[in-house]
Amino acid sequence: MPTEATFFLAGLFIVAAATGWAFARYSFMDRDPPPGPPVNADYLRGLNLVLNRQTDEALELFVRMAKVDDDTLETHFALGHLFRRRGEVDRAIRVHQNLLARPNLSDAQRDQALFSLAQDYLGAGLFDRAEKMFSELRGSATLGKAALENLVDIYERESDWAKAIEAHRELEVATGEKSTQVAHYYCELAERARISGDLDRARQHLKSSVRSETGAFRGTLIRAAIAKEEEDYAQALRLYERVLESDQRLMVEVLPELVACYEATNRRAELERYFESLIAEGGTIKQNLAYAIILNGLTEPPILRRCVEDFVLHNEVLTSLVDAEHIRSLSDEDREAEIVRISSGLRQLALASARYRCTTCGYSSQRLVWHCPSCKAWETIKPIQAFQLERAIA
Ligand SMILES: [Zn+2]
Repeated sequence: MPTEATFFLAGLFIVAAATGWAFARYSFMDRDPPPGPPVNADYLRGLNLVLNRQTDEALELFVRMAKVDDDTLETHFALGHLFRRRGEVDRAIRVHQNLLARPNLSDAQRDQALFSLAQDYLGAGLFDRAEKMFSELRGSATLGKAALENLVDIYERESDWAKAIEAHRELEVATGEKSTQVAHYYCELAERARISGDLDRARQHLKSSVRSETGAFRGTLIRAAIAKEEEDYAQALRLYERVLESDQRLMVEVLPELVACYEATNRRAELERYFESLIAEGGTIKQNLAYAIILNGLTEPPILRRCVEDFVLHNEVLTSLVDAEHIRSLSDEDREAEIVRISSGLRQLALASARYRCTTCGYSSQRLVWHCPSCKAWETIKPIQAFQLERAIA
């Protein structure tokens, strides 16, 4: 955003450049008569124009300035940066294009100008041009890493996962650091192939995803979905149960799939036993299970209804809202109807509030997303997995 401070900052840059230049020139005068004028008049005029907010005139002056040398180059970069920061991308592009067109730039200076121009294009939403320039800088000794990071950002925005993998591999070589991202790119490709019906291709991507370690959790979920689609319910069940073993917080997503797989194979008794063993684990599992049952509106098998009833009659906050004693005294049929009524209210409440939150930036969402749209981190969005009753009471 344009601020007084940015104007003064630019002014200071220019003053610094002009005084540095003048100082060098006067020191030179002590020893020998100067060949040119004692002060760079263009810079002082430029400073005056920027301070008077006559940015168009200042821009013209800097672009026309005949000589760009080591002393004045930084000032040009500062001015370009200032324009981009103020959202005046067209002006930033003119400054940087002008710099790039200068002969006699060193390799490092040329890379810097190219990088700045690529950033301008990125800021203007011209991804194709930005990508082309950042690609040119892949091998740059000073800016190669930053260019690759920008390329990864562009490919993620464009959902071009194959190119994102390639750029990230290069980045891994450059930095020697591994990350969770590549596995997620393969998961994205696998998910895309699965949805288009190419299950073999999806499996192939998942294999690559495993090779790149992390993100295995998401890979297991996709594998389970593929198995279910192929009616290999035994395999699907194994995979869904494995997901819950590693993170019960995905209960909301997994529970309806689990029930569907057991039902498809007519293994209801086994399903009951599975839930009994889960509940017997203790801890927060009972509450997580109740939350997932209520949110998915599940009523079968009966153990699920019992789980919800137990939750409603024992939850600390809920019991201050409902007359648990009265509900307990009702006939089986009436009690069940009352529990259904309360759980449908709880479901409405949960669906109306945020159900997932990014642990890095706090971004909240109604559905599970693996790539935070706010802070761009992967796998940081986690289910909240609790009814926000306190807020409802307030
Ligand atoms: Zn985030």
